[in-house]
Amino acid sequence: MTRDLTGDFQTQRQAADQMPYPTLTVRRDRLARLARMTKHHQLEIIRAIQTDFGQRSDVEIRMAEINAVLHAIRHTRLHLWHWMRPWSVSMPWRLTPARARIAPQPLGIVGVISPWNYPWSLALMPIVDAFAAGNVVMLKPSEHSPATSNLLQRLVAQYFTLEEFKVVEGGVEVARRFSELPFDHLVFTGSTAVGRQVAQAAAVNLTPVTLELGGKSPAIVAGDADFDKAATDIIFGKGMNGGQTCIAPDYVLVESRHISAVVKALSEAIQRQRPDDHAATHAINAAHQQRLDAMLQEAHDHGCRIIDHGPHAPALVIDPHRELQVMREEIFGRCLPVIGVSDMSAAIRYVNARPHPLALYAFTHDKGLQQQLLQTTRSGALVSNATLLHHAVPSLPFGGVGESGMGAYHGRHGFERFSHLRGIFYQAKRSASRMLYPPYRRWLIKLLGLG
Ligand code: NAD
Repeated sequence: MTRDLTGDFQTQRQAADQMPYPTLTVRRDRLARLARMTKHHQLEIIRAIQTDFGQRSDVEIRMAEINAVLHAIRHTRLHLWHWMRPWSVSMPWRLTPARARIAPQPLGIVGVISPWNYPWSLALMPIVDAFAAGNVVMLKPSEHSPATSNLLQRLVAQYFTLEEFKVVEGGVEVARRFSELPFDHLVFTGSTAVGRQVAQAAAVNLTPVTLELGGKSPAIVAGDADFDKAATDIIFGKGMNGGQTCIAPDYVLVESRHISAVVKALSEAIQRQRPDDHAATHAINAAHQQRLDAMLQEAHDHGCRIIDHGPHAPALVIDPHRELQVMREEIFGRCLPVIGVSDMSAAIRYVNARPHPLALYAFTHDKGLQQQLLQTTRSGALVSNATLLHHAVPSLPFGGVGESGMGAYHGRHGFERFSHLRGIFYQAKRSASRMLYPPYRRWLIKLLGLG
């Protein structure tokens, strides 16, 4: 396997060297093939994902896996000609009439390590941006979604040459070797703990990394919010994919005097959105299910009130102690702690006392509070009166900060992330700046304030 991996990497390296600047036509064609691969095999993709999860809503698969990729490709193919064009930047008067520009240049080979939770879209979304920027790509999908990973491997081999796009299947050992390859950029989507290891492996080669990590994303519900609407949005974000979404609201913060009203609204939203178990997504495997069951059991054993509407619906855990597992680690599943705080300043202090989240959700129309959140908290994204929807805006950078990740992609941000923004300087035929060369002229030194 190691020899294959290195051999395939060398093949891609030669290809990238032979075509250091793929034209717009080449890039648009690669993107079109990626779209065809996703569109023409929708049913196989849905079946593979459902095999991996045991049960997952096909509406959610179409929305978050298939359409997410197709929309990203459409946006990118439309704007790519514009993004690829070098742009002029201003010149200090001392150096005029020289000109300066920025020219985006492909990096070469981009490696992508992807997780199991959205096994199609999180594998391909970074590749859309990497292709747009003119790179070739190598992907290591998750071993925890083997049916989808295998389908990816087979379809990619059908639609792309090895020189353009290679899928490497395998477990942790293969992933480790993969992260040690001297990529020109490595994108990792997964847990913070593994992200640290990937960053260390990449540092040996000075490979730049984009780390799309996880963490606990809070939802703050202020007193002025419409509790029913807020609860509907929160349960949408938590219910999607059985809570196995990196930007799912992890826990809710609400003023203690409103906690009963918010819990009631959340409970009603669960019943409205999850009337039966058929639409619900299951935990990816028995180990994850056991982890979630253990979280709920521990909270129950410590006297927390739990409102549970069924094995695959969001389960509310009221005011759990901060030391319980449900508050110590990213939940990534159906548990939803609801925590009472004295006021909104206490909610902000609560958020700021913990690692910066990937998303911070705020349910309020109070402009003052929105401004306070903007200026006094840090998170990958700040979202008001909704959950998850910012992910679908291609012109917003998507990424974390601190423990939730580094670097962002999507749309133009991804194009620039996977390009080298090369500084270009054109000296004019006649240039006064040459007068700055030695021997230094006294009058000029005076004019420039240098002596
Ligand atoms: P994970 O970290 O266990 O695995 C992710 C990938 O890393 C897999 O392909 C795996 O094979 C590989 N891997 C495992 N060990 C490795 C090692 N030592 N070196 C290199 N690669 C290794 O994550 P997961 O369980 O698949 O996904 C869940 C996590 O991902 C959650 O924390 C979630 O929040 C996060 N996530 C983040 C985003 C985002 O965009 N920020 C999106 C989805 C998921």
